[in-house]
Amino acid sequence: MPRFDYPCPGCRTTNSLHDADCRFEGTQWPTVEKAYVDIVSLLSVAPRAEGSLPELVHGEWDNLHKAALDYLKRQQRVVVEDGELRLLTAAEYKELVSEPTREPMRTLYRKGSVPGCHDNAVFAMVAWYEMVGLSWAETKEHVVEWLRESGAWDRGGFEEASPEQLVESKRHVYEAGYGWKEKAQAAKRVIDRSV
Ligand SMILES: [Zn+2]
Repeated sequence: MPRFDYPCPGCRTTNSLHDADCRFEGTQWPTVEKAYVDIVSLLSVAPRAEGSLPELVHGEWDNLHKAALDYLKRQQRVVVEDGELRLLTAAEYKELVSEPTREPMRTLYRKGSVPGCHDNAVFAMVAWYEMVGLSWAETKEHVVEWLRESGAWDRGGFEEASPEQLVESKRHVYEAGYGWKEKAQAAKRVIDRSV
């Protein structure tokens, strides 16, 4: 099944299987991708006021465009600065998402894992970096660094001999593209109780 660069703005699938209740089910993929490309190409020229996009866009500005823009904002690919929308460069975006600022990932990132939630916490970190678009090598580097700097590794409770070995054992999480949310929430509950 082909995978697409941009997720469906309704249900976030990146293949042709939408969630049962997705409002964009049946929309052709080239149409979905065009909506993103329309927005990204306009914003890659210069920051623009949100209200100007419908006039500037090539063709019609529809619900799909609105949903795609909302998605890009939620992902912080597009940020609001001085009342205008600005597209982050690839480098800026990678730097931004390297340090999760929203819960529950923020707690995991700042406090580190504790015995009792290591599995969930490492799973969530790997899945998070995959979701935001880091390569496997970058993901591994970030998660290893996090294990060391957050104090998680020193708290013990791991079966593996090194952080590198531990992260390597989670490669299947990266490759399957699992979601991070549930595991992160479960880990945060344990961390909140103990740190
Ligand atoms: Zn969908």
